[in-house]
Amino acid sequence: MSERLAIHGGTPVRSARLPYGHHIVGEEDRKAVEEALRSDWLTTGPAVSRFEEAFARVTGSAEAVAVANGTAALHAAVFAAGIGPGDEVIVPPLTFVATSNAVLYQGGSVVFADILKDRLTLDPEAVERAVTGRTRGIIAVDFAGQPADLAELRDIAVRHGAVLIEDASHALGASYRERRVGSISDLTTFSFHPVKVITTGEGGMITTDDSSRAGRMRGFRNHGIGRDAHQRERTESWMYEMTVLGWNYRLTDLQSALGLAQLQRLDGWIRRRGEIAASYDRRLADLPEIELPSIAPGRTSAWHLYVLRLHLERLNTGREEIFRALRAEGIGVNVHYIPVPWHPYYQNLGYERGRWPVTEAEYERMLTLPVWPGMSDQDVEDVTTAVRKVVRYYSR
Ligand SMILES: *Cc1c(COP(=O)(O)O)cnc(C)c1O
Repeated sequence: MSERLAIHGGTPVRSARLPYGHHIVGEEDRKAVEEALRSDWLTTGPAVSRFEEAFARVTGSAEAVAVANGTAALHAAVFAAGIGPGDEVIVPPLTFVATSNAVLYQGGSVVFADILKDRLTLDPEAVERAVTGRTRGIIAVDFAGQPADLAELRDIAVRHGAVLIEDASHALGASYRERRVGSISDLTTFSFHPVKVITTGEGGMITTDDSSRAGRMRGFRNHGIGRDAHQRERTESWMYEMTVLGWNYRLTDLQSALGLAQLQRLDGWIRRRGEIAASYDRRLADLPEIELPSIAPGRTSAWHLYVLRLHLERLNTGREEIFRALRAEGIGVNVHYIPVPWHPYYQNLGYERGRWPVTEAEYERMLTLPVWPGMSDQDVEDVTTAVRKVVRYYSR
């Protein structure tokens, strides 16, 4: 006899729902923000460059440019790559909409290329097939925190004169062949939304070794004006020139102070995320109804997400009911992501369903379990208890 599920009126594993992601803000964060609040600078001031310098050091890149959010980071990267109308950029369909939207902002065309079934990142062979004479960029997404096939993608980019942009919104703290994410692609973007690895409330960063691209992005985040207020004050000059069409994508000093404080705990948080993932692996390995995430050799994941896949043929219900049953047990499961070309906006642009068989089939069986460094061992156990309870109930 299996236990009565909460969705059928049974007792839930947890009474209060465990969210799939959650930030950690401690005393050191509050102190840092308060100090910024007491300073002369609320927005672009000394904390921004301190955060940028520390971030460049942590990721092993020459330059880091702070912006208002991860979407702005992608937009600035697409701008710095020189992408415009008539240019094609290859993007995986399994990502958040912001990845491909950034290409559209600059008037470029999005070409979706399918993903690898085992690790859910861009398939280099599919990318190669999608290349045309107009390809100017590839945006790889480090899905769930695992770096994409960056060496193969770089090789394709170099052969076709395209820029490799890496959307590492999930992957701060991950590594690829002993190199830290942020030091590998031409341009790497990060997000500091509260569910991401570190947070500034809203915030983003681009890393690059190309100082001329970094300079262009610093202008881009400030209306296309070369020098910001902090630089003008230091040089005693009122002179400024707008040279390109930029945006107000500035990160504030308050946010940068928070980001700098958060960055100090990155290693410990990544370690804890890894422990939680390893614990899920251990506690769920014997369930034939699910497939656990796989990390390729030579890579470490930042474990932004733990995405398992249901073997639907071994279950007598669909993903939808499993999702609702786990939510009823108090587990904040989620689904990442609806394939981007399926959204009405992209459908209206003419993208048809059925062109990305791996993405579209895997999407139907994906389920994200909670992972965040503040989870206790009991939280982790609750998740696996609930997964075992629900999956057993629906087992064929
Ligand atoms: C979070 C996220 C973004 C956007 O970041 P924001 O800071 O929310 O603008 C872009 N791409 C991916 C893959 C993300 O997960």
